[in-house]
Amino acid sequence: MPKFSQTSLSKLSTCHIDLQILFKEVIKYFDCQILEGHRGQAAQDAAYAAGNSQLKYPNGKHNSILSNAVDVSPYPIDWNNHKRFYWFAGYCLGIAQKLKDEGKITHKIRYGGDWDSDKEITDNKFQDLVHFEINVTRI
Ligand SMILES: [Zn+2]
Repeated sequence: MPKFSQTSLSKLSTCHIDLQILFKEVIKYFDCQILEGHRGQAAQDAAYAAGNSQLKYPNGKHNSILSNAVDVSPYPIDWNNHKRFYWFAGYCLGIAQKLKDEGKITHKIRYGGDWDSDKEITDNKFQDLVHFEINVTRI
């Protein structure tokens, strides 16, 4: 069974409990790595400058403590293999729905490849294929 590295676990521990529960379940079935949890001002400024985030500090979902967002990639990471990111995300969102239905997490999860959560990816404007967040508007 795949397991998180200490680095991934440490990053995941900076995230909302629902995200921790979700990805501790996902890792049992699909090897993945936590790229980023909480982001302080310097990290958010860098992400904004690099075009990896559209929000300035402290408005990003990664900026709260605990972080309401987490960036996760399938392992090993291949930034050019976009299909694998979507495949992984579908897997994660399916598990998230099941955990929510079972009352093990309390929020829906929103994905950066489908911001409006309509399960249609061709209408998505800003692609953030590693980003999963607590959907505070869809409790
Ligand atoms: Zn993110």
